[in-house]
Amino acid sequence: MTAPITDIKRHVHGVASSATLAINEQSNALRAQGRTIYKLGLGQSPFPVPESVVAALKEHAREKDYLPVRGLPELRAAVAGYHNRQSGLDYRAEDILIAPGSKELLYILQLVFNGTIVLPSPSWVTYAPQAQLFGNRVLWIETTPGQHWKLLPAALDAACREDGTGPKLLVLNYPSNPTGFSFTDGELEELANVVRTHQMVVLSDEIYGELHHEGSHRSIATYYPEGTIVSAGLSKWCGAGGWRLGTFAFPAGMQYLLNAMAVVASETFTATSAPIQHAAVTAFRKGERIDRYIAYAREILRVLAEPIVERLSKVGANVSKPDGAFYLFPSFEKHARAFDESGVHTSAEFSSRLLQDTGVAVLPGSAFGRPAAELSVRLAYVDFDGAAALEAASRQPVDEALVTRCCGNVLAAVDLLCEWIEQTAA
Ligand code: PLP
Repeated sequence: MTAPITDIKRHVHGVASSATLAINEQSNALRAQGRTIYKLGLGQSPFPVPESVVAALKEHAREKDYLPVRGLPELRAAVAGYHNRQSGLDYRAEDILIAPGSKELLYILQLVFNGTIVLPSPSWVTYAPQAQLFGNRVLWIETTPGQHWKLLPAALDAACREDGTGPKLLVLNYPSNPTGFSFTDGELEELANVVRTHQMVVLSDEIYGELHHEGSHRSIATYYPEGTIVSAGLSKWCGAGGWRLGTFAFPAGMQYLLNAMAVVASETFTATSAPIQHAAVTAFRKGERIDRYIAYAREILRVLAEPIVERLSKVGANVSKPDGAFYLFPSFEKHARAFDESGVHTSAEFSSRLLQDTGVAVLPGSAFGRPAAELSVRLAYVDFDGAAALEAASRQPVDEALVTRCCGNVLAAVDLLCEWIEQTAA
């Protein structure tokens, strides 16, 4: 028998399977051997979906018809209102596009956008592989731990000048996955001046905006409304990653991009799940109870970051308190020589050895665009019972005692990591 003739497109061939997957597979293999695994690799919200949103989903479980490609009109209006309350801008329902996850929207944007993708290093694991899938060119811009891994306006300006003219899409994510850092108003304004000079489109990925620890997230759209698309969704602040709902908000002058993306949406996912869209209306309208839920979540994450940063700093990690959400991006350059001598030369080897020796799963910095030999890792401090932590927060102040009790597993994992660093670097 002859085999069927198949081939895989060149662009897809080159894309390695994700680092998250490799760590997951190693974790599963160790768990099968009876080992305890601390899951600081997967970036998933620990908190349950708010009760009112779950109730809305139940109420609409019988909605079975396909919805319009761009989204349920009521939801598009709710999302426009949500952004207008947050940023003081003036979105209309027709400026909003709904999809099964913001990842899908980012993918379609990269499909329709004809130009260079500009990414700060480090950036979220998915942007660069998506570019690769479409053969889009990526212009990486360096950042440093000393500057909290933030994209600096001068660095962006210099890179754009050197690169020359041509359409550019800057993907800016804040609070950031993987670093946890965000921008101040002044920094956003300066970045806005640079992107305006270079006539760039900005995809502002604000999926963690609600989880800014001080509740003071601001969008670059405030300073660059004409060129910014704001990406958001239910996955992080609403604890509903598995529900798959993401949103893009476009400037009125960029309807051409929205229209192009809607054509692709109509030929791919058709429309986002109807019950989920109905439930999302309740989420985006928010209200007192949801506001309280978010306030507790922010507070738990803010307070929990403190002992982790303190413990990591004590063993020589380069790390500081994050501005939002649930990630830290420590680097262990100080111990590079000692690790080198013990056979650990890359962040991938660092993560793999750490998992093997201690059961603590983290992701290597190289998955986020960092040089392979830099010993940086992303740590997602989410391996705890978010429902119990929220319940405790509603009864007592959120302090170190509360997080020690409710998030002990995360702190135990950090202690194991610190002991391992000390032993290896000794
Ligand atoms: N953007 C960032 C920075 C993320 O971390 C994630 C999920 O991990 C997403 C986008 C995708 O979110 P979703 O597709 O669930 O909306």
